[in-house]
Amino acid sequence: MAGMTASQRRWEAWFDAYAKIDGGWPERIELPCPEGDGGRVQIAYLAGREGGKGMVFVWCDRCRTGIFLHRVRIPDDAPRLPHGATEDEIDKIIPPDTVFLPPDPAIEPLPD
Ligand SMILES: [Zn+2]
Repeated sequence: MAGMTASQRRWEAWFDAYAKIDGGWPERIELPCPEGDGGRVQIAYLAGREGGKGMVFVWCDRCRTGIFLHRVRIPDDAPRLPHGATEDEIDKIIPPDTVFLPPDPAIEPLPD
Protein backbone atom coordinates (compact mmCIF):
# COMPACT_ATOMS: atom_id res chain seq x y z
CA MET A 1 0.00 0.00 0.00
CA ALA A 2 1.29 3.48 -0.85
CA GLY A 3 2.60 5.49 2.04
CA MET A 4 3.42 2.54 4.24
CA THR A 5 6.91 2.27 5.57
CA ALA A 6 8.85 -0.97 5.34
CA SER A 7 8.32 -1.57 9.06
CA GLN A 8 4.55 -0.98 8.72
CA ARG A 9 4.40 -3.44 5.83
CA ARG A 10 6.31 -5.98 7.87
CA TRP A 11 4.01 -5.52 10.86
CA GLU A 12 0.96 -5.71 8.60
CA ALA A 13 2.20 -9.01 7.09
CA TRP A 14 2.33 -10.42 10.61
CA PHE A 15 -1.10 -8.99 11.41
CA ASP A 16 -2.50 -10.68 8.28
CA ALA A 17 -1.04 -13.99 9.44
CA TYR A 18 -2.72 -13.53 12.83
CA ALA A 19 -6.05 -12.61 11.19
CA LYS A 20 -5.98 -15.71 8.97
CA ILE A 21 -5.18 -18.12 11.79
CA ASP A 22 -7.61 -16.47 14.23
CA GLY A 23 -10.37 -16.23 11.63
CA GLY A 24 -9.89 -19.86 10.64
CA TRP A 25 -10.41 -21.26 14.14
CA PRO A 26 -11.29 -24.06 14.94
CA GLU A 27 -9.50 -25.15 11.79
CA ARG A 28 -5.75 -25.09 12.39
CA ILE A 29 -4.36 -22.95 9.63
CA GLU A 30 -0.69 -23.48 8.89
CA LEU A 31 1.04 -20.44 7.48
CA PRO A 32 4.62 -19.87 6.38
CA CYS A 33 6.53 -17.17 8.23
CA PRO A 34 6.02 -13.72 6.64
CA GLU A 35 9.78 -13.22 6.93
CA GLY A 36 10.12 -15.87 4.22
CA ASP A 37 12.47 -18.18 6.10
CA GLY A 38 10.37 -21.32 5.77
CA GLY A 39 9.31 -21.34 9.42
CA ARG A 40 5.72 -21.77 10.57
CA VAL A 41 3.56 -19.17 12.28
CA GLN A 42 2.62 -20.11 15.86
CA ILE A 43 -0.15 -18.53 17.93
CA ALA A 44 -0.86 -18.26 21.66
CA TYR A 45 -3.58 -16.45 23.57
CA LEU A 46 -3.29 -15.07 27.09
CA ALA A 47 -6.63 -14.66 28.87
CA GLY A 48 -7.46 -11.19 30.15
CA ARG A 49 -9.41 -10.22 33.22
CA GLU A 50 -12.68 -10.34 31.31
CA GLY A 51 -13.57 -13.68 29.84
CA GLY A 52 -13.26 -14.11 26.12
CA LYS A 53 -10.73 -11.32 25.62
CA GLY A 54 -7.02 -11.10 26.10
CA MET A 55 -3.68 -10.86 24.38
CA VAL A 56 -2.50 -12.75 21.37
CA PHE A 57 1.06 -13.55 20.35
CA VAL A 58 2.04 -14.81 16.92
CA TRP A 59 5.59 -15.77 16.09
CA CYS A 60 7.74 -17.90 13.82
CA ASP A 61 9.18 -21.11 15.16
CA ARG A 62 12.32 -20.58 13.09
CA CYS A 63 13.37 -16.91 13.26
CA ARG A 64 11.55 -16.21 16.56
CA THR A 65 10.08 -12.97 15.27
CA GLY A 66 6.46 -11.95 15.74
CA ILE A 67 3.88 -9.49 17.01
CA PHE A 68 1.46 -9.24 19.91
CA LEU A 69 -1.90 -7.52 20.29
CA HIS A 70 -3.89 -6.45 23.32
CA ARG A 71 -7.65 -6.75 23.88
CA VAL A 72 -8.39 -9.24 21.14
CA ARG A 73 -11.35 -11.57 21.22
CA ILE A 74 -10.18 -15.12 21.92
CA PRO A 75 -12.02 -17.68 19.80
CA ASP A 76 -14.30 -19.97 21.82
CA ASP A 77 -12.51 -23.12 22.97
CA ALA A 78 -9.11 -21.93 21.73
CA PRO A 79 -6.36 -22.95 24.15
CA ARG A 80 -5.11 -20.02 26.20
CA LEU A 81 -2.78 -19.21 29.02
CA PRO A 82 -4.70 -18.28 32.16
CA HIS A 83 -5.01 -14.66 33.30
CA GLY A 84 -2.05 -13.97 35.57
CA ALA A 85 0.08 -16.74 34.05
CA THR A 86 3.65 -16.66 35.37
CA GLU A 87 6.64 -15.96 33.16
CA ASP A 88 7.62 -19.64 33.47
CA GLU A 89 4.20 -20.73 32.22
CA ILE A 90 4.42 -18.29 29.33
CA ASP A 91 7.99 -19.34 28.46
CA LYS A 92 6.80 -22.93 28.07
CA ILE A 93 4.53 -21.85 25.23
CA ILE A 94 6.31 -18.84 23.75
CA PRO A 95 10.07 -19.22 23.29
CA PRO A 96 11.66 -16.64 25.61
CA ASP A 97 14.08 -15.46 22.93
CA THR A 98 11.25 -14.40 20.61
CA VAL A 99 11.57 -10.79 19.44
CA PHE A 100 8.23 -9.02 19.03
CA LEU A 101 8.03 -6.14 16.57
CA PRO A 102 6.92 -2.84 18.10
CA PRO A 103 3.15 -2.37 17.75
CA ASP A 104 1.96 -0.20 14.89
CA PRO A 105 -0.13 2.62 16.41
CA ALA A 106 -2.06 3.00 13.16
CA ILE A 107 -3.29 -0.61 13.30
CA GLU A 108 -3.43 -1.39 17.02
CA PRO A 109 -7.12 -1.72 17.97
CA LEU A 110 -8.57 1.13 20.03
CA PRO A 111 -9.29 0.55 23.73
CA ASP A 112 -12.85 -0.48 24.45
ZN1 LIG B 1 10.52 -16.77 10.46
